Amino acid sequence: MRAAAATAVLLALLLTSLAVAQGPAPITVVSSAGRRTLPATLVNGQDYVALDDVAAFLPLSVRDDRQGGVVVSVRGRSIVAPRDRALVSVDGRVVALPGPLSRVANRWLAPVDFVSRAVGPLSEQRVEYRRASRLLVIGMMRVPRVTTRVEPAGTGARVTIEIAPPAGVMAVTEADRVAVRIDADALDVAPVSGTAPAVGQVRADQTTLTVMLAAGDAKATATTSDQAARVVIDITAPGQAPEAAAAAPATAPPPPLSPIPAASNVRTIVVDPGHGGDDTGVKGAGGTLEKQITLDLAKRLKSVLEARLGVRVVLTRDDDRAVTLDERTATANNAKGHMFVSLHMNASPAPSRTGPAVFFMRLDREGEDTRRQAGAQAQALPVLGGGTRVIETIRWDLAQARHIEESQRLAALLAGALEGPSGTTAPPVQPAPLRVLAGLDMPAVLFEMGYLTSPAQEKGAASDDARAALVQAVYDALNRFITEPAPAPAAPAPAPPARRRR
Ligand SMILES: [Zn+2]
Repeated sequence: MRAAAATAVLLALLLTSLAVAQGPAPITVVSSAGRRTLPATLVNGQDYVALDDVAAFLPLSVRDDRQGGVVVSVRGRSIVAPRDRALVSVDGRVVALPGPLSRVANRWLAPVDFVSRAVGPLSEQRVEYRRASRLLVIGMMRVPRVTTRVEPAGTGARVTIEIAPPAGVMAVTEADRVAVRIDADALDVAPVSGTAPAVGQVRADQTTLTVMLAAGDAKATATTSDQAARVVIDITAPGQAPEAAAAAPATAPPPPLSPIPAASNVRTIVVDPGHGGDDTGVKGAGGTLEKQITLDLAKRLKSVLEARLGVRVVLTRDDDRAVTLDERTATANNAKGHMFVSLHMNASPAPSRTGPAVFFMRLDREGEDTRRQAGAQAQALPVLGGGTRVIETIRWDLAQARHIEESQRLAALLAGALEGPSGTTAPPVQPAPLRVLAGLDMPAVLFEMGYLTSPAQEKGAASDDARAALVQAVYDALNRFITEPAPAPAAPAPAPPARRRR
Protein backbone atom coordinates (compact mmCIF):
# COMPACT_ATOMS: atom_id res chain seq x y z
CA MET A 1 0.00 0.00 0.00
CA ARG A 2 2.73 2.41 1.03
CA ALA A 3 4.74 1.65 -2.10
CA ALA A 4 1.69 2.24 -4.26
CA ALA A 5 1.01 5.57 -2.59
CA ALA A 6 4.63 6.62 -3.02
CA THR A 7 4.49 5.63 -6.69
CA ALA A 8 1.31 7.63 -7.15
CA VAL A 9 2.88 10.72 -5.58
CA LEU A 10 6.00 10.33 -7.70
CA LEU A 11 3.89 9.89 -10.82
CA ALA A 12 1.81 12.96 -10.01
CA LEU A 13 4.99 14.98 -9.49
CA LEU A 14 6.42 13.77 -12.78
CA LEU A 15 3.25 14.55 -14.68
CA THR A 16 2.83 18.02 -13.23
CA SER A 17 6.45 18.97 -13.76
CA LEU A 18 6.77 17.68 -17.31
CA ALA A 19 3.33 17.32 -18.89
CA VAL A 20 5.06 14.74 -21.06
CA ALA A 21 3.78 11.19 -21.03
CA GLN A 22 5.26 8.10 -22.58
CA GLY A 23 3.47 5.63 -24.68
CA PRO A 24 1.79 6.57 -27.96
CA ALA A 25 2.35 4.06 -30.74
CA PRO A 26 5.19 5.00 -33.07
CA ILE A 27 4.40 6.73 -36.33
CA THR A 28 5.10 4.80 -39.51
CA VAL A 29 7.04 6.72 -42.14
CA VAL A 30 6.24 5.66 -45.70
CA SER A 31 8.66 6.88 -48.34
CA SER A 32 10.40 5.63 -51.46
CA ALA A 33 12.98 4.14 -49.09
CA GLY A 34 10.32 1.85 -47.63
CA ARG A 35 8.63 1.84 -44.25
CA ARG A 36 10.34 2.86 -41.05
CA THR A 37 9.13 3.79 -37.60
CA LEU A 38 9.40 7.19 -35.97
CA PRO A 39 9.04 7.22 -32.17
CA ALA A 40 6.33 9.58 -30.89
CA THR A 41 5.88 11.27 -27.53
CA LEU A 42 2.67 12.71 -26.18
CA VAL A 43 3.04 16.37 -25.14
CA ASN A 44 -0.13 18.07 -23.89
CA GLY A 45 -2.26 15.58 -25.78
CA GLN A 46 -0.44 16.05 -29.12
CA ASP A 47 1.90 13.68 -30.93
CA TYR A 48 5.43 15.07 -30.90
CA VAL A 49 8.50 13.71 -32.66
CA ALA A 50 12.19 14.44 -32.09
CA LEU A 51 13.73 16.53 -34.85
CA ASP A 52 16.93 14.50 -34.86
CA ASP A 53 14.80 11.41 -35.57
CA VAL A 54 13.06 13.28 -38.41
CA ALA A 55 16.51 14.14 -39.83
CA ALA A 56 16.83 10.47 -40.79
CA PHE A 57 14.02 10.96 -43.34
CA LEU A 58 14.15 14.61 -44.33
CA PRO A 59 17.16 16.88 -44.88
CA LEU A 60 17.15 19.16 -41.86
CA SER A 61 19.52 20.59 -39.32
CA VAL A 62 18.72 22.25 -36.00
CA ARG A 63 20.38 25.05 -34.09
CA ASP A 64 19.30 26.98 -30.99
CA ASP A 65 18.72 30.70 -31.31
CA ARG A 66 19.69 33.21 -28.59
CA GLN A 67 16.14 33.78 -27.33
CA GLY A 68 15.52 30.17 -26.38
CA GLY A 69 13.87 29.24 -29.66
CA VAL A 70 15.21 27.13 -32.49
CA VAL A 71 16.05 27.53 -36.16
CA VAL A 72 15.55 24.53 -38.43
CA SER A 73 17.34 24.66 -41.78
CA VAL A 74 16.01 22.69 -44.74
CA ARG A 75 17.82 22.84 -48.08
CA GLY A 76 19.31 26.26 -47.30
CA ARG A 77 16.05 27.80 -46.14
CA SER A 78 15.00 28.42 -42.55
CA ILE A 79 12.13 27.74 -40.22
CA VAL A 80 12.23 30.01 -37.17
CA ALA A 81 10.41 28.68 -34.11
CA PRO A 82 10.22 31.24 -31.30
CA ARG A 83 10.26 29.93 -27.77
CA ASP A 84 6.88 28.78 -26.36
CA ARG A 85 4.87 29.92 -29.38
CA ALA A 86 2.61 27.67 -31.45
CA LEU A 87 3.61 29.59 -34.58
CA VAL A 88 6.64 29.20 -36.81
CA SER A 89 7.95 31.28 -39.67
CA VAL A 90 8.62 29.08 -42.70
CA ASP A 91 10.87 30.99 -45.06
CA GLY A 92 9.01 34.15 -43.98
CA ARG A 93 5.51 32.63 -44.03
CA VAL A 94 3.67 32.12 -40.71
CA VAL A 95 2.35 28.63 -40.06
CA ALA A 96 0.21 27.74 -37.04
CA LEU A 97 0.93 24.54 -35.10
CA PRO A 98 -1.06 22.64 -32.46
CA GLY A 99 1.67 23.48 -29.90
CA PRO A 100 5.12 25.05 -29.56
CA LEU A 101 8.38 23.23 -30.26
CA SER A 102 9.77 22.01 -27.00
CA ARG A 103 13.22 21.17 -25.72
CA VAL A 104 13.25 17.96 -23.69
CA ALA A 105 16.51 16.40 -22.44
CA ASN A 106 18.71 18.04 -25.06
CA ARG A 107 16.48 17.16 -27.98
CA TRP A 108 14.03 19.37 -29.82
CA LEU A 109 10.55 17.89 -30.04
CA ALA A 110 7.98 19.21 -32.50
CA PRO A 111 4.32 18.41 -33.21
CA VAL A 112 4.08 15.97 -36.14
CA ASP A 113 2.23 18.71 -38.02
CA PHE A 114 5.47 20.71 -37.93
CA VAL A 115 6.99 18.05 -40.17
CA SER A 116 4.11 18.10 -42.67
CA ARG A 117 3.35 21.85 -42.62
CA ALA A 118 6.77 23.42 -42.13
CA VAL A 119 9.54 20.98 -43.09
CA GLY A 120 7.55 19.44 -45.96
CA PRO A 121 7.09 22.61 -48.04
CA LEU A 122 10.82 23.44 -47.80
CA SER A 123 12.02 19.91 -48.49
CA GLU A 124 10.56 19.96 -52.02
CA GLN A 125 8.65 16.78 -51.29
CA ARG A 126 5.05 16.21 -50.44
CA VAL A 127 4.82 15.36 -46.72
CA GLU A 128 1.43 14.34 -45.40
CA TYR A 129 0.42 13.11 -41.95
CA ARG A 130 -2.52 10.69 -41.85
CA ARG A 131 -3.47 11.09 -38.25
CA ALA A 132 -5.99 8.26 -37.90
CA SER A 133 -3.60 5.62 -39.22
CA ARG A 134 -0.45 7.32 -37.85
CA LEU A 135 1.25 7.36 -41.22
CA LEU A 136 3.72 10.05 -42.26
CA VAL A 137 3.80 9.88 -46.04
CA ILE A 138 6.84 11.39 -47.76
CA GLY A 139 6.83 11.87 -51.53
CA MET A 140 4.28 10.72 -54.08
CA MET A 141 3.48 7.41 -52.42
CA ARG A 142 0.32 5.47 -53.05
CA VAL A 143 -1.50 5.33 -49.71
CA PRO A 144 -5.20 4.83 -50.40
CA ARG A 145 -7.80 5.10 -47.70
CA VAL A 146 -9.47 1.77 -46.99
CA THR A 147 -12.94 1.64 -45.44
CA THR A 148 -14.67 -1.59 -44.50
CA ARG A 149 -18.33 -2.14 -43.76
CA VAL A 150 -19.73 -5.40 -42.40
CA GLU A 151 -23.46 -6.11 -42.57
CA PRO A 152 -25.50 -9.22 -41.92
CA ALA A 153 -27.21 -10.64 -45.03
CA GLY A 154 -29.66 -13.45 -44.37
CA THR A 155 -27.78 -15.95 -42.22
CA GLY A 156 -24.52 -14.83 -43.80
CA ALA A 157 -22.92 -11.46 -44.31
CA ARG A 158 -21.67 -8.93 -46.80
CA VAL A 159 -18.35 -7.18 -46.37
CA THR A 160 -17.77 -4.12 -48.56
CA ILE A 161 -14.24 -2.80 -48.81
CA GLU A 162 -13.62 0.50 -50.57
CA ILE A 163 -10.18 1.62 -51.64
CA ALA A 164 -9.95 5.33 -52.57
CA PRO A 165 -8.33 6.51 -54.75
CA PRO A 166 -8.65 3.23 -56.66
CA ALA A 167 -5.77 0.75 -56.63
CA GLY A 168 -5.31 -2.70 -58.11
CA VAL A 169 -6.78 -5.39 -55.86
CA MET A 170 -6.59 -9.17 -55.69
CA ALA A 171 -8.85 -11.15 -53.39
CA VAL A 172 -7.63 -14.61 -52.37
CA THR A 173 -10.22 -16.86 -50.76
CA GLU A 174 -9.02 -19.55 -48.38
CA ALA A 175 -10.84 -21.90 -46.03
CA ASP A 176 -11.36 -19.49 -43.18
CA ARG A 177 -10.40 -16.14 -44.60
CA VAL A 178 -10.37 -13.79 -47.57
CA ALA A 179 -7.14 -11.87 -48.08
CA VAL A 180 -7.48 -8.69 -50.13
CA ARG A 181 -4.08 -7.61 -51.45
CA ILE A 182 -3.92 -4.00 -52.50
CA ASP A 183 -1.34 -2.61 -54.89
CA ALA A 184 -0.12 0.33 -52.79
CA ASP A 185 2.82 1.51 -50.72
CA ALA A 186 0.80 1.53 -47.51
CA LEU A 187 -2.82 1.58 -46.43
CA ASP A 188 -4.67 4.28 -44.53
CA VAL A 189 -7.17 1.99 -42.83
CA ALA A 190 -10.33 3.34 -41.21
CA PRO A 191 -11.94 1.45 -38.32
CA VAL A 192 -14.33 -1.27 -39.50
CA SER A 193 -18.01 -0.35 -39.20
CA GLY A 194 -20.72 -2.88 -38.43
CA THR A 195 -20.58 -6.53 -37.39
CA ALA A 196 -22.12 -9.82 -38.43
CA PRO A 197 -21.95 -13.22 -36.73
CA ALA A 198 -20.47 -14.81 -39.87
CA VAL A 199 -17.52 -12.40 -39.90
CA GLY A 200 -14.63 -12.60 -37.46
CA GLN A 201 -11.77 -10.17 -37.14
CA VAL A 202 -10.74 -7.87 -39.99
CA ARG A 203 -6.97 -7.38 -39.87
CA ALA A 204 -4.79 -5.00 -41.81
CA ASP A 205 -1.10 -5.40 -42.33
CA GLN A 206 1.15 -3.44 -44.67
CA THR A 207 -0.84 -3.80 -47.90
CA THR A 208 -3.25 -6.65 -47.20
CA LEU A 209 -6.62 -6.62 -45.52
CA THR A 210 -7.66 -10.02 -44.16
CA VAL A 211 -11.29 -10.81 -43.37
CA MET A 212 -11.59 -13.83 -41.07
CA LEU A 213 -14.71 -15.93 -41.57
CA ALA A 214 -16.52 -17.28 -38.53
CA ALA A 215 -18.74 -19.48 -40.68
CA GLY A 216 -19.71 -20.21 -44.26
CA ASP A 217 -18.23 -19.82 -47.72
CA ALA A 218 -17.08 -16.58 -49.25
CA LYS A 219 -17.16 -15.21 -52.75
CA ALA A 220 -15.33 -11.99 -53.53
CA THR A 221 -15.96 -9.65 -56.44
CA ALA A 222 -13.95 -6.55 -57.30
CA THR A 223 -15.13 -3.54 -59.28
CA THR A 224 -13.45 -0.21 -59.98
CA SER A 225 -14.72 3.28 -60.68
CA ASP A 226 -12.93 6.61 -61.03
CA GLN A 227 -13.48 7.22 -57.35
CA ALA A 228 -12.66 3.92 -55.71
CA ALA A 229 -11.96 0.24 -56.11
CA ARG A 230 -14.52 -1.86 -54.32
CA VAL A 231 -14.37 -5.46 -53.14
CA VAL A 232 -17.63 -7.07 -52.10
CA ILE A 233 -17.32 -10.31 -50.15
CA ASP A 234 -20.55 -12.27 -49.88
CA ILE A 235 -20.53 -14.89 -47.16
CA THR A 236 -23.06 -17.68 -47.40
CA ALA A 237 -23.50 -19.26 -44.00
CA PRO A 238 -24.74 -22.82 -43.55
CA GLY A 239 -28.51 -22.91 -43.33
CA GLN A 240 -28.97 -20.32 -46.04
CA ALA A 241 -30.61 -21.83 -49.11
CA PRO A 242 -28.03 -21.96 -51.92
CA GLU A 243 -30.62 -20.71 -54.46
CA ALA A 244 -31.19 -17.62 -52.37
CA ALA A 245 -27.49 -16.90 -52.37
CA ALA A 246 -27.21 -17.52 -56.09
CA ALA A 247 -30.16 -15.24 -56.80
CA ALA A 248 -28.27 -12.23 -55.46
CA PRO A 249 -25.54 -11.46 -57.97
CA ALA A 250 -22.32 -10.79 -56.12
CA THR A 251 -21.58 -7.74 -58.24
CA ALA A 252 -24.76 -5.93 -57.27
CA PRO A 253 -24.23 -3.05 -54.87
CA PRO A 254 -25.69 -3.56 -51.41
CA PRO A 255 -29.40 -2.76 -51.38
CA PRO A 256 -30.09 0.77 -50.16
CA LEU A 257 -31.29 0.91 -46.60
CA SER A 258 -33.54 3.89 -47.25
CA PRO A 259 -34.38 6.31 -50.05
CA ILE A 260 -31.73 8.65 -48.66
CA PRO A 261 -28.72 8.45 -50.99
CA ALA A 262 -25.75 6.58 -49.57
CA ALA A 263 -22.88 8.91 -48.79
CA SER A 264 -20.73 7.24 -51.43
CA ASN A 265 -23.25 8.37 -54.07
CA VAL A 266 -22.50 11.99 -53.34
CA ARG A 267 -22.35 13.86 -56.65
CA THR A 268 -23.47 17.37 -55.76
CA ILE A 269 -22.43 19.51 -52.81
CA VAL A 270 -24.09 22.86 -52.09
CA VAL A 271 -22.01 25.57 -50.47
CA ASP A 272 -23.88 28.54 -49.06
CA PRO A 273 -21.92 31.77 -48.58
CA GLY A 274 -23.85 33.54 -45.82
CA HIS A 275 -25.36 37.00 -46.40
CA GLY A 276 -24.70 39.15 -49.52
CA GLY A 277 -25.81 42.43 -51.09
CA ASP A 278 -27.06 44.89 -48.51
CA ASP A 279 -27.12 42.11 -45.93
CA THR A 280 -23.46 42.45 -44.99
CA GLY A 281 -23.55 40.14 -41.98
CA VAL A 282 -21.10 40.87 -39.18
CA LYS A 283 -18.72 43.80 -39.63
CA GLY A 284 -15.31 43.60 -37.95
CA ALA A 285 -13.69 46.56 -36.21
CA GLY A 286 -11.20 46.72 -39.08
CA GLY A 287 -14.01 46.93 -41.62
CA THR A 288 -14.02 43.31 -42.83
CA LEU A 289 -17.48 42.16 -43.87
CA GLU A 290 -18.78 38.67 -43.20
CA LYS A 291 -20.39 38.53 -46.67
CA GLN A 292 -16.97 38.99 -48.32
CA ILE A 293 -15.24 36.28 -46.32
CA THR A 294 -18.03 33.76 -46.84
CA LEU A 295 -18.08 34.34 -50.60
CA ASP A 296 -14.31 34.04 -50.93
CA LEU A 297 -14.25 30.84 -48.86
CA ALA A 298 -17.15 29.39 -50.86
CA LYS A 299 -15.34 29.97 -54.16
CA ARG A 300 -12.13 28.43 -52.84
CA LEU A 301 -14.08 25.48 -51.51
CA LYS A 302 -15.81 24.99 -54.85
CA SER A 303 -12.55 24.68 -56.76
CA VAL A 304 -10.93 22.40 -54.17
CA LEU A 305 -13.94 20.08 -53.85
CA GLU A 306 -14.49 19.85 -57.59
CA ALA A 307 -10.83 19.12 -58.27
CA ARG A 308 -10.22 16.67 -55.46
CA LEU A 309 -13.55 14.92 -54.96
CA GLY A 310 -14.80 14.98 -58.54
CA VAL A 311 -18.18 16.33 -57.43
CA ARG A 312 -20.28 19.22 -58.71
CA VAL A 313 -20.38 22.16 -56.33
CA VAL A 314 -23.34 24.54 -56.47
CA LEU A 315 -23.08 27.92 -54.75
CA THR A 316 -26.26 29.59 -53.48
CA ARG A 317 -24.72 32.88 -54.64
CA ASP A 318 -21.52 33.51 -56.57
CA ASP A 319 -21.47 37.27 -56.39
CA ASP A 320 -22.33 40.05 -53.96
CA ARG A 321 -26.11 40.00 -53.96
CA ALA A 322 -28.88 39.46 -51.46
CA VAL A 323 -30.42 35.98 -51.43
CA THR A 324 -33.30 35.03 -49.12
CA LEU A 325 -33.10 31.95 -46.93
CA ASP A 326 -35.91 30.31 -48.91
CA GLU A 327 -34.06 30.95 -52.16
CA ARG A 328 -30.96 29.30 -50.72
CA THR A 329 -32.98 26.27 -49.67
CA ALA A 330 -34.68 26.11 -53.06
CA THR A 331 -31.36 26.31 -54.92
CA ALA A 332 -29.99 23.43 -52.87
CA ASN A 333 -33.07 21.21 -53.19
CA ASN A 334 -33.43 22.02 -56.87
CA ALA A 335 -29.80 21.01 -57.50
CA LYS A 336 -30.57 17.71 -55.76
CA GLY A 337 -27.63 18.38 -53.47
CA HIS A 338 -26.31 15.55 -51.33
CA MET A 339 -24.67 17.79 -48.73
CA PHE A 340 -25.06 21.41 -47.70
CA VAL A 341 -22.52 23.60 -45.93
CA SER A 342 -23.48 27.13 -44.92
CA LEU A 343 -20.54 29.47 -44.18
CA HIS A 344 -20.71 32.29 -41.63
CA MET A 345 -18.58 34.35 -39.27
CA ASN A 346 -19.75 34.74 -35.70
CA ALA A 347 -20.25 37.87 -33.58
CA SER A 348 -20.04 38.48 -29.86
CA PRO A 349 -20.19 41.60 -27.67
CA ALA A 350 -16.99 40.28 -26.04
CA PRO A 351 -14.07 41.01 -28.39
CA SER A 352 -12.05 38.28 -26.64
CA ARG A 353 -14.46 35.59 -27.81
CA THR A 354 -12.82 33.43 -30.52
CA GLY A 355 -13.01 30.05 -32.18
CA PRO A 356 -15.13 28.22 -34.71
CA ALA A 357 -18.40 26.39 -34.04
CA VAL A 358 -20.43 23.88 -36.02
CA PHE A 359 -24.23 23.65 -35.98
CA PHE A 360 -26.83 21.27 -37.25
CA MET A 361 -30.61 21.54 -37.17
CA ARG A 362 -32.35 21.14 -33.84
CA LEU A 363 -35.76 19.56 -34.01
CA ASP A 364 -38.68 20.67 -31.89
CA ARG A 365 -41.30 18.14 -30.90
CA GLU A 366 -43.16 18.49 -34.18
CA GLY A 367 -39.93 17.86 -36.03
CA GLU A 368 -39.26 14.74 -33.97
CA ASP A 369 -42.66 13.34 -34.97
CA THR A 370 -41.93 14.20 -38.57
CA ARG A 371 -38.63 12.41 -38.39
CA ARG A 372 -40.33 9.23 -37.24
CA GLN A 373 -42.77 9.38 -40.11
CA ALA A 374 -40.10 10.36 -42.64
CA GLY A 375 -40.79 8.87 -46.01
CA ALA A 376 -44.38 8.08 -45.12
CA GLN A 377 -45.93 10.40 -47.66
CA ALA A 378 -45.00 12.17 -50.84
CA GLN A 379 -45.17 15.91 -51.08
CA ALA A 380 -44.30 18.62 -53.55
CA LEU A 381 -41.45 20.96 -52.69
CA PRO A 382 -41.18 24.40 -54.30
CA VAL A 383 -38.16 24.68 -56.55
CA LEU A 384 -36.28 27.59 -58.00
CA GLY A 385 -37.98 29.30 -60.94
CA GLY A 386 -41.43 28.20 -59.85
CA GLY A 387 -43.07 24.81 -60.09
CA THR A 388 -42.70 21.92 -57.72
CA ARG A 389 -40.74 18.73 -57.40
CA VAL A 390 -42.34 15.73 -55.79
CA ILE A 391 -40.16 13.88 -53.38
CA GLU A 392 -41.04 11.33 -50.79
CA THR A 393 -40.96 13.66 -47.89
CA ILE A 394 -42.81 15.74 -45.44
CA ARG A 395 -43.53 19.35 -44.75
CA TRP A 396 -41.44 21.77 -46.73
CA ASP A 397 -40.12 23.51 -43.68
CA LEU A 398 -39.21 20.22 -42.03
CA ALA A 399 -37.47 18.40 -44.86
CA GLN A 400 -34.28 18.41 -42.79
CA ALA A 401 -35.95 16.18 -40.18
CA ARG A 402 -35.08 12.86 -41.81
CA HIS A 403 -31.43 13.83 -42.31
CA ILE A 404 -30.69 14.85 -38.73
CA GLU A 405 -28.45 11.90 -37.89
CA GLU A 406 -26.38 12.36 -41.02
CA SER A 407 -26.22 16.11 -40.45
CA GLN A 408 -24.96 15.47 -36.94
CA ARG A 409 -22.31 13.07 -38.28
CA LEU A 410 -21.20 15.66 -40.83
CA ALA A 411 -21.02 18.32 -38.12
CA ALA A 412 -18.93 16.05 -35.90
CA LEU A 413 -16.53 15.28 -38.77
CA LEU A 414 -16.13 18.99 -39.46
CA ALA A 415 -15.44 19.73 -35.80
CA GLY A 416 -12.89 16.91 -35.78
CA ALA A 417 -11.19 18.27 -38.89
CA LEU A 418 -10.85 21.67 -37.22
CA GLU A 419 -8.93 20.22 -34.33
CA GLY A 420 -5.51 20.59 -35.93
CA PRO A 421 -5.79 23.83 -37.96
CA SER A 422 -7.43 25.81 -35.16
CA GLY A 423 -4.57 24.85 -32.91
CA THR A 424 -6.92 23.80 -30.15
CA THR A 425 -9.32 21.05 -29.28
CA ALA A 426 -12.27 20.32 -31.56
CA PRO A 427 -14.85 23.13 -31.53
CA PRO A 428 -18.34 22.53 -30.15
CA VAL A 429 -21.02 20.83 -32.26
CA GLN A 430 -24.43 22.19 -31.38
CA PRO A 431 -28.00 21.65 -32.47
CA ALA A 432 -29.77 24.94 -33.17
CA PRO A 433 -33.12 25.91 -34.70
CA LEU A 434 -31.60 27.44 -37.84
CA ARG A 435 -34.11 28.38 -40.50
CA VAL A 436 -31.64 28.13 -43.38
CA LEU A 437 -31.25 24.40 -42.60
CA ALA A 438 -34.89 23.50 -41.88
CA GLY A 439 -36.13 23.01 -45.44
CA LEU A 440 -33.05 21.24 -46.79
CA ASP A 441 -33.58 17.73 -48.06
CA MET A 442 -29.96 16.65 -47.50
CA PRO A 443 -27.45 16.43 -44.65
CA ALA A 444 -26.66 20.02 -43.76
CA VAL A 445 -24.44 21.98 -41.40
CA LEU A 446 -23.80 25.61 -40.62
CA PHE A 447 -20.18 26.51 -39.99
CA GLU A 448 -19.32 29.63 -37.98
CA MET A 449 -15.68 29.91 -39.01
CA GLY A 450 -14.62 32.29 -36.23
CA TYR A 451 -15.53 35.57 -34.55
CA LEU A 452 -15.24 38.63 -36.75
CA THR A 453 -15.77 40.72 -33.60
CA SER A 454 -12.39 39.44 -32.35
CA PRO A 455 -9.65 41.72 -33.72
CA ALA A 456 -7.26 38.76 -33.77
CA GLN A 457 -9.65 36.58 -35.77
CA GLU A 458 -10.56 39.43 -38.10
CA LYS A 459 -6.88 39.85 -38.86
CA GLY A 460 -6.40 36.09 -39.07
CA ALA A 461 -9.34 35.63 -41.42
CA ALA A 462 -7.70 37.99 -43.89
CA SER A 463 -4.68 35.71 -44.30
CA ASP A 464 -4.35 33.27 -47.13
CA ASP A 465 -3.04 30.59 -44.78
CA ALA A 466 -6.04 30.81 -42.46
CA ARG A 467 -8.45 30.61 -45.38
CA ALA A 468 -6.57 27.67 -46.88
CA ALA A 469 -6.70 25.91 -43.50
CA LEU A 470 -10.48 26.41 -43.29
CA VAL A 471 -10.94 25.06 -46.82
CA GLN A 472 -8.73 22.09 -45.96
CA ALA A 473 -10.78 21.34 -42.84
CA VAL A 474 -14.08 21.40 -44.74
CA TYR A 475 -12.56 19.26 -47.50
CA ASP A 476 -11.27 16.73 -44.94
CA ALA A 477 -14.69 16.50 -43.29
CA LEU A 478 -16.64 16.10 -46.54
CA ASN A 479 -14.13 13.59 -47.85
CA ARG A 480 -14.47 11.49 -44.72
CA PHE A 481 -18.24 11.82 -44.83
CA ILE A 482 -18.21 10.44 -48.37
CA THR A 483 -15.57 7.74 -47.98
CA GLU A 484 -16.29 6.46 -44.50
CA PRO A 485 -19.42 4.34 -44.31
CA ALA A 486 -22.10 5.69 -42.03
CA PRO A 487 -22.79 3.64 -38.93
CA ALA A 488 -25.78 1.31 -39.37
CA PRO A 489 -29.02 3.22 -38.79
CA ALA A 490 -30.60 2.70 -35.40
CA ALA A 491 -33.94 0.96 -35.19
CA PRO A 492 -36.80 3.48 -35.42
CA ALA A 493 -37.44 4.91 -31.99
CA PRO A 494 -40.84 4.01 -30.56
CA ALA A 495 -43.21 6.91 -30.01
CA PRO A 496 -43.01 8.25 -26.45
CA PRO A 497 -45.71 6.53 -24.37
CA ALA A 498 -46.96 9.84 -22.96
CA ARG A 499 -47.99 11.00 -26.42
CA ARG A 500 -49.46 7.69 -27.44
CA ARG A 501 -51.93 7.75 -24.55
CA ARG A 502 -53.43 11.07 -25.58
ZN1 LIG B 1 -23.75 35.08 -40.64
